[in-house]
Amino acid sequence: MLEQPKATAGLYIFSAPSGGGKTSLARALAEDCVDVSISVSHTTRNRRSGEKDGKDYFFVDCVTFELMIEQGDFLEYARVFDHFYGTSRSSVDKALAVGQKVILDIDWQGARKVRRVAPGSVSVFFLPPSVEVLAERLAGRGRDSADEIHYRMERAISEMGHFDEYDYVLVNDRFEDTVAQLKKLVLEGQAPTSVSHQDVAALVKSAENVRLKS
Ligand code: 5GP
Repeated sequence: MLEQPKATAGLYIFSAPSGGGKTSLARALAEDCVDVSISVSHTTRNRRSGEKDGKDYFFVDCVTFELMIEQGDFLEYARVFDHFYGTSRSSVDKALAVGQKVILDIDWQGARKVRRVAPGSVSVFFLPPSVEVLAERLAGRGRDSADEIHYRMERAISEMGHFDEYDYVLVNDRFEDTVAQLKKLVLEGQAPTSVSHQDVAALVKSAENVRLKS
């Protein structure tokens, strides 16, 4: 069945390369604003230590995920690198129906699909302030191998290549400032200060140079 586009107000798409800080930003926003909630996705990836089922994700196996696809349970779903991720249509609809604003923390593929089926949604792409900061964040706490860090950088570059599909591109430099801008966007509809295409293109280019050297 072909889905009809819905003019969906109240739906906010947040995307970022890994290390862009979107999950912490979304959480801070939801904690500060009672009528803002974050959609909890379903995923086939394994649970990481510290993650809780039903809070961070609904962790499901591939059979369950495929069944949910067949039943049309997802507003959008995508394969992100090695695993499947999807946004439950019913939980988003329920939250919107009671006047909640809903944040979808999803990748660029999911963002494309949501824009198509929910043209009233607003999309924001977050960037780290510099390649050095990105590399630092991707390196985590120094427990990961060089190969793993290199792989994450590849993923980050590939995700960043889609920045120009978003309504706004924000540099997540000072966390509190970014949260303040997001609050104004979500609660008052005030457009945040988006960075120029040139600046973003320069950041992506320097990330590519770092990748070539490593
Ligand atoms: P992680 O496995 O690190 O939690 O997430 C990997 C990527 O999958 C992130 O870019 C995250 O935003 C994206 N993601 C999480 N949930 C969904 C979802 O429901 N749909 C899509 N398309 N991407 C998702």
